[in-house]
Order: sequence, then C-alpha cells, then structure tokens
Amino acid sequence: MVKAKAKSKKRKGRSKLEEKLKLKRKNGWDKLSSSKEKRIFKFCEEYKEFLNTAKTERETIDAIIKYVESEGFQPLESIKSAKPGSRVYIINRKKSVGLAVLGTEPIENGLNLIASHIDAPRLDLKQNPLYESSESHTALLRTHYYGGIKKYQWVNIPLALHGIVVLENGSELTIKIGEGDNEPVFIIPDLLPHLYRQKQAKRRLGEGIKGEELNIIVGSRPMEEKGVKSKIKLWVLNYLHKKYGMVEEDFVSAELEVVPATKAYDIGFDRSMIASYGQDDRVCVFTSIKSVTELKKPKRTALILLFDKEEIGSEGPSSVKSRFLENMIGDLLALNDPDYRDSALRKTLQNSLALSSDVNGAINPIFADVHEKQNAARLGFGIVLTKFTGSGGKFSANDASAEFMGYIRRLLNKNKVLWQAAELGKVDEGGGGTVAKFLAEHNMEVLDCGPGIVSMHSPLEISSKIDIYSCFEAYNAFLSGQWNRSP
Ligand code: MN
Ligand code: MN
Repeated sequence: MVKAKAKSKKRKGRSKLEEKLKLKRKNGWDKLSSSKEKRIFKFCEEYKEFLNTAKTERETIDAIIKYVESEGFQPLESIKSAKPGSRVYIINRKKSVGLAVLGTEPIENGLNLIASHIDAPRLDLKQNPLYESSESHTALLRTHYYGGIKKYQWVNIPLALHGIVVLENGSELTIKIGEGDNEPVFIIPDLLPHLYRQKQAKRRLGEGIKGEELNIIVGSRPMEEKGVKSKIKLWVLNYLHKKYGMVEEDFVSAELEVVPATKAYDIGFDRSMIASYGQDDRVCVFTSIKSVTELKKPKRTALILLFDKEEIGSEGPSSVKSRFLENMIGDLLALNDPDYRDSALRKTLQNSLALSSDVNGAINPIFADVHEKQNAARLGFGIVLTKFTGSGGKFSANDASAEFMGYIRRLLNKNKVLWQAAELGKVDEGGGGTVAKFLAEHNMEVLDCGPGIVSMHSPLEISSKIDIYSCFEAYNAFLSGQWNRSP
C-alpha cells in the first residue's frame, strides 16, 4: 500500500509537467456531456438522410439548394442590391455551386471561404454500354470507373443507377433505379471460389477484377421477336423505350452513374460511427452548409464552394480549376459596385482565407502499418488539420503557412473544438491531393481540413459521429473568425 501511494504521488507530480508541456490528444467520447452527445447524434441523423438523398453531383446540388432556400438563400441574379447578412447562391452548370453570406466589412478585405467537392468515386456507364453475352444469356452494361477505386470492392454488391439522359429531341430525363424498397438493383457478378483457383486467384489483388470486367447485369429475358439475334439486349432496349422513350443512341448523350444501392448505417454497438457511400466529401459539404446557414451578419463575407471533378484531378468547367470562383466573386463585387475594377477582384482573392475541406485517411485497425502513427488521424479525435497533402517529398502539395496554421489552431482552441493534426500516410507510402493547391493559385491562405475516414473511396466509407460534429463546430468558428495578422 505504502509503496503504491508513493508511486502515485510521483505520477501525479510528473503529470502536472506533462499537462503543461505535452501535446494532448483527446478521444472526443471521453467525458462527453450527455447534452452534447444528444446534439451530435441528432446532427448525424440529418447527415445520414442527406447521404441517402444525395448520391450524385446533381442530386447533391438539388438537395443543397432546396435546403438553403428554406434558410433564406436566393439566386444571386434575383437580388438587386446586397446588404450585410444577405444570403445568395450561384449554381454553375448544375454541378458546382457557391453560397455566400455578405459581411459587414467590404468584400475586398477578403472572404472566409470553405471549399469541398460533391463528386465521389463510382462507375460511369460507357457511351455504348449495352451488350448481350450470348454464352450466359444475359444483357450487361459496360462501365468506366470514375476516380480512384479498388475495383474488387464493387462486385457482388447491390448497385443503383442514377443520372440523366438527353434525348434526340433535346429533352432531358432523370433516371434513378435501385433506391426504393421494391425497386430492382444491379450487380457485377464475381467468380465463384470453386472455379477461381487456376486463374483469378493468381492475379495480383489490384487486378482481381479488371476495369473491363466491371460490367453490370441488367437482364436475362429474351424478347419474343422473330429474326432477331440479341433478344435479351432487345428486351432491355424495349423496356427503356417504353419506360423512358429512349433508344440505344441516347446513351451517347447521357451521364449515368452506378453507385452502391446501400444507405447510411450506424456502425457498432455504441452507434458511434457511420458507414455510407460518398462520405468523401459529402461530409464536408453537409457540415459546411449547416455552418453557413447558422451565420447571421458576419464581419467578413462567408463563401461556401462546392466543386465537381475533384476525384479526377479537378479538370473541366464544373471543377475548382474553372474560372467560376473569380466569376462569382466578381458578381458579388458588382452587387454594390457594377463598375468595380479588376484590382478589387484580385485584392479580394489575395485577402481571402480558405479551408480546403476534405477528408483524410484515419488509422485502419486492420492495416495500421501504412500510417506513421505519431502523425496519423484517428477516428473520434476531431477534425484533422492537414498542413500539406501531395506525395513523395510533399510533391504537388499546398503547404499551409505556420502563421495560418497558428491562427486556425488558436481559433479552434478558443472555441473548444476537438482537433488533431495529421498527414495521410507514411512518407513515400503513397499520397493524394485536394482542391487546396488550386485555391492557392489565387494567392490566398489555404489549409486542408476535414474528418478522418476509414476505408475511404470504398462503397461503404466509415466516419466517426464526433468528428463530423467537430467539423461543423470548426467551420462555425472559422466563418465568424477574424485574423488580426501581423504585417
Ligand atoms: Mn475528397
Ligand atoms: Mn477522394
């Protein structure tokens, strides 16, 4: 007893110094108040609903616009003049959007900007997708995968088809099959284990399923029609024609995305985690949108940007690399000064502070060794501040300045937001990029941040409810924040 007491005294003494000097990492579930726990779980119920309705870029935009309009946001072109607190949005090509709450300060002082992306890895239908496999008597649709996926994860899971088709006459139809309780789903058939030993089992894992094998089965009934070769293909075409007025050529002018026909699930006995398709990066979309709608009359103008095409390198007119950001800021400046100068636009961009809000890879319990644990994100430890992304010697990264990191760290500590600092994996293990470096091209301060995710880019990505809420809290703090920068 005596000995033990002495020891505990010593530990107590040491812990005081530890308390003062050592970096504290905190599991957010420790000593969590029950009122906050309730808030977190309620927030995440709404988040799960959002994930279930927003499975494509277009659906995400639709869900967001419906929500922000109910929160008083209006299309920018519909308002005559703006005052502090005005809430406006601009949609770009149905696939990216900017939402602003005007501040009390002049816009030229810079914006507090949060950018995330609404696209997610998936399988896109090819432009000539439909064929009949005569040996198996089935009809299938060929796909070309979009973004970085592990192809073997997409076989033998229920798949849904979402997207639009532009018909010959120019009319547009929306297709969504596989989400309702009584709707059929689609599937990519993997090989049975009994017959895979000689060939498929000997392939390397990355080639277990090859790109050209990602074909989904869509039918097996022949059309009763004389003198026709591909009767099963014809049955499918006939169905599409009757239901949608489509002919085979219409696939050429379509964007049809194959996504998991699953929903967002609570994970664990304690329901502390969520598994869902598309959390990269719709978790940041949802949390930043919830944040901006909380703002009343901020000092600095707040801007939330949702971009497309991040998963394939941010190319094209709906991506961060288009001129949409400059055009939108120009439109904001023109609200109060139709003859604004180009220098005002440049000044606004240069004085802006940006969070590139995207997910990081949290330690996977089965494959922990790809992480350098001292600098890896953990589920439940809060929003992850990622000073730089890129790979192999920080190549192709935006590396946030110590000053901006310092500001964000002070801001989060002051607002008691749970956070951690991490990088993606071990040095030289691999890497990845975000929209950060493209925002930084405008000469603004940019920092990557977002929740850690396990099994990122898989059909069911795993997040922690407490991290999701900490993102929301961090964005709240950031959007109302003011950086008194030393010159
Ligand atoms: Mn992402
Ligand atoms: Mn991604």
